[in-house]
Amino acid sequence: MKAYSFCPVCGKPLEGAMIEGRDRMFCPSCRWVHYINPLPVALAYTLNSKGELLVVRRAQEPAFDEWALPGGFLEAGEEPHEGCLRELMEETSLEGRIDRLIGIYHREVEMYGSLLVVAYKVIVADDRVSLNHELSDGGFYPRHLIPEVRIPLHRHIITEVTQSESAG
Ligand SMILES: [Zn+2]
Repeated sequence: MKAYSFCPVCGKPLEGAMIEGRDRMFCPSCRWVHYINPLPVALAYTLNSKGELLVVRRAQEPAFDEWALPGGFLEAGEEPHEGCLRELMEETSLEGRIDRLIGIYHREVEMYGSLLVVAYKVIVADDRVSLNHELSDGGFYPRHLIPEVRIPLHRHIITEVTQSESAG
């Protein structure tokens, strides 16, 4: 995320200052403060009725060509679980239902800065996948045949859920 140089409210140049314990840019004219907050993202760890996991291959940056869990940015006014199912539908045409919240994570991505990632376990009854333009490949795989997922957080979530479910 690019930093502002000018106040988006009144147009005056911003100045740096220590505000509430952090270096922030603020407007000396109208007192607007540039708070930088994480962007919320939802991820869908999606299983079909056979217990196979959905992984998709990204056709866009960031992480172009990498295998990943489907997901995307939440929209304003949207519940996180609704955003999760909406992104799944947009990317794969799958109609899912939320099984449970897996966890909430933070990560830094060069393209977007700070992200707040909400991961849900999602179940689908009909697993016929139709990918949109954001993806080049994707489908449901038995656990031992999942393509290598190298995005650290996605790999972490897959490992964590797979281990917790095989243990219990
Ligand atoms: Zn201003």
